[in-house]
Amino acid sequence: MREAARLSEISTSMIRRMFEIVERARKEGREIVSLTIGEPDFSTPREVIERAVAAMNSGYTHYTSNFGLDELREVIAERYGVPTSDVMITAGGSEALMNASLALIERGSRVIIPTPNFLSYFTYAKLCEARIEEVRTHDTGFKPDPDRINEVMDRDVSVIFLNYPNNPTGVVAGKKELREIVEIASDYNAVVISDEIYDQIHYDAKPISLAGYENVVVVNGFSKSLSMTGWRIGFTIAGESLLDSMLKVHQVNGVCAPAFAQKAVADVIGDGLFDKIVSEMVSEFRRRRDYVYSELSEIYEVVKPEGAFYMFVNVNEDCMAFIEKLLQFGVAVTPGLPFGTHNKTYVRISYANSMENLKKAVKAFREYESQKPRSP
Ligand code: PMP
Repeated sequence: MREAARLSEISTSMIRRMFEIVERARKEGREIVSLTIGEPDFSTPREVIERAVAAMNSGYTHYTSNFGLDELREVIAERYGVPTSDVMITAGGSEALMNASLALIERGSRVIIPTPNFLSYFTYAKLCEARIEEVRTHDTGFKPDPDRINEVMDRDVSVIFLNYPNNPTGVVAGKKELREIVEIASDYNAVVISDEIYDQIHYDAKPISLAGYENVVVVNGFSKSLSMTGWRIGFTIAGESLLDSMLKVHQVNGVCAPAFAQKAVADVIGDGLFDKIVSEMVSEFRRRRDYVYSELSEIYEVVKPEGAFYMFVNVNEDCMAFIEKLLQFGVAVTPGLPFGTHNKTYVRISYANSMENLKKAVKAFREYESQKPRSP
């Protein structure tokens, strides 16, 4: 059997290696605090589950329209101030990203990714056989610099991926720079895919949405904001022509998101419960962010995260070696490497974990660093 050539540059080895490392440690009987988790550690709120059960009992167990349930599209459209016809519900944000990628990234075109950034963008670009152009943000506090993006633009660029609040850095980009990037993309006939999946989880600066621009596809969903990763409810916002192109993929990809889950989210928002649920979760994340940041910034170089639940830490040594050694102290973290090519000495820390575990983790970081031989 032969694997399709488009997969040749896509690897799962890093994920497998990490999994094996943690499994081995657990088999050896060691208790491991995992700071690798990419989802809120909270259960899906009771308000969502109750409405989903009611929806199942009243027959929301079939296909919906490819665009999704009108009730859900309407409440989303209202929140964004866009026409309902610009909203399409997808099977998670991931499906929306795949639809947008297959619809908009021409084979051989260039795809701009400010890095570090969410690892899947690299995979989407490779699946579409595009050329990836990383624009580094390490020396600008992980914020995207429109001038740097402008420098690498040409007519071959099909898509620019943006993600604020950002995974893995937690950084929130400002209104001015984001708008400038959209304008630069527009000058070159390129589309911005704005992944706003962490938009509800912010602490200092409120992130802005890029919904409503002609050359922007917004991707979002409820995996993070309502702790619903397993339910697969995402959405896309774009103008008619972009949405039509994405529908060509969606009709054979996700087809529709689970009906009862769409109804449950529509009802939670319709009943005015969404903001309350989110704010309870965010206040807990804030407490943890403040704690982990204040501790780790004493040991490492860290940019203070303003959103999401990650921190991207420069550990000043090879990240894979660091991870293996830190595991001896009972903590697992994610290597920086999959988030871009210049992240060899970085690790991603997820603080979607209990305060008790975060305290254990901080202790482990301190112990590890204190026994390390000092470089001369
Ligand atoms: N975008 C980013 C930046 C993410 O971190 C994730 C989840 N890890 C997703 C999109 C996809 O989320 P989902 O498919 O669960 O909606």
